Amino acid sequence: MVSRKGMRWLRSIESRRPPTSDVAEPLISVTDVKHYFYCPRILYFEHVLHAKPQLGSQQEESRKRHEEYVRKELRRMDAIYYSSDFVGAEKMLFVPLCSSNIGLKGIVDLIIKTRSDEYIPVDYKNMVSNRGRAWTDHKYQLAAYALLIDEVFNTTVKRGFINYMPEKLIVKLEITRTVKTHVKRALGHIKRIIQEEKLPPIRVSRQKCTGGCGYKQICQYDYTHYSLT
Ligand code: SF4
Repeated sequence: MVSRKGMRWLRSIESRRPPTSDVAEPLISVTDVKHYFYCPRILYFEHVLHAKPQLGSQQEESRKRHEEYVRKELRRMDAIYYSSDFVGAEKMLFVPLCSSNIGLKGIVDLIIKTRSDEYIPVDYKNMVSNRGRAWTDHKYQLAAYALLIDEVFNTTVKRGFINYMPEKLIVKLEITRTVKTHVKRALGHIKRIIQEEKLPPIRVSRQKCTGGCGYKQICQYDYTHYSLT
């Protein structure tokens, strides 16, 4: 059963819910793509219920100070920024990108443009990796940035990096055509979640779901009403 506090919160959300969902919103964000691959329900709570996530103070702080953390990381002499592979490369920080063609927008932390005109996205995470590997949602987030870079710079991104800052770990990822197609398909699913306003099934296991998304309170409500297992 959902707690009284949870019910009160849910009612307050429903009363704040605007008459229409984000159907008219033309562009999906790269963060939406990340959320979709982590748990599609987050999109429902955010774009259909318009619920504000209840995040811990540390998470809030990390979100707000992301740019500051990245700039600090980039000053380190072993940052990818200074790798010998990229001598003479152009480095673009916090690049806003959008494409109406694929209906996507986002701000990529870093783009390295090599002297041979290769574009390489780099994403920074203030968290640990999945035992030395990239988390699935992070991998597709990077691929979504790659799609945007392809569109905006008329190029083909083939690789990218994720820097897990607390571990000082840089994970290299190949961004294949298959991965990009997967992201494009996900964009269609995301649009459907928003347009059809149907609660998507839970993707993460209950054991793994720590509620770090900020929606655990209303998600518990749905467990009881939709009998999901
Ligand atoms: S609480 Fe868990 S199942 Fe519910 S939206 Fe968040 S991650 Fe998904």
